[in-house]
Amino acid sequence: MKSINILGVKVNNITMNEAVETAFNYLCDDNKNVIYTPNSEIILAASNDSEFTEIINSADLIIPDGIGVVYGSKILGQPLPERVAGFDLVCLLFEKMAQAGKSVFLFGAKPGVADTAAEKLKEKYNGLVIAGTNDGYFKDEDDEKIIAKINEAAPDFLMVCLGFPKQEKWIYKYKDVLNAKLMIGAGGCIDVFAGNVMRAPEFYCKHGLEWFYRLMKQPSRFVRMLALPKFGLKVLFKGRSYKD
Ligand code: UDP
Repeated sequence: MKSINILGVKVNNITMNEAVETAFNYLCDDNKNVIYTPNSEIILAASNDSEFTEIINSADLIIPDGIGVVYGSKILGQPLPERVAGFDLVCLLFEKMAQAGKSVFLFGAKPGVADTAAEKLKEKYNGLVIAGTNDGYFKDEDDEKIIAKINEAAPDFLMVCLGFPKQEKWIYKYKDVLNAKLMIGAGGCIDVFAGNVMRAPEFYCKHGLEWFYRLMKQPSRFVRMLALPKFGLKVLFKGRSYKD
């Protein structure tokens, strides 16, 4: 699979349709696979943390989750075809999984939220099996118990939604002992499925303005969102010095 290098982070050159096909194939084969979903904030953080970069680059599929990543690829003269938002990928994958009777385990978000999300997903995707849920607020010593719970449920697909870099590090540390065919680090997806956080209307997503919608809805994210212009400037001035 073709990829480009943005500030040291590998990002696959892939369309949404190709990503969904690839993810579904992962669910059907015997190997374990990992998908990470870096946006500009994650890539900027990784560019200052070589261990985190290595973790992201170890994934089987790395999708450009944010519009900033697509603009970054254009600045580098290696344009990616489109934004592949983790949330949209998961929704399209759920449609296929529902038809095939595949199962998902939801791990992350505040207590109770994954259960609400599970109920809503069962209604929306008739046939999708919810193998189990676990909230994302736990101590390191709980890892073993959580792994045992996931392994007993033996889901086809494990969604780890703990925010970055926690979710990527957790998957990386435990992927070999986890009994799931596909694992994804998917940030705030469970909150959106539960209806606690609204996804931006299509207009904003289509015009690369989802960040603006989120800023209006959650002004407290302002400081985090400064990562977007910082990322753009770093790609512009230093992007070409990173080797593939
Ligand atoms: N979260 C969690 N455990 C933690 C920290 C965060 O489960 O220790 C959850 C949080 O409740 C939220 C998600 O991780 O559901 C992170 O959401 P955010 O919107 O920050 O994700 P991102 O912007 O990284 O996609």
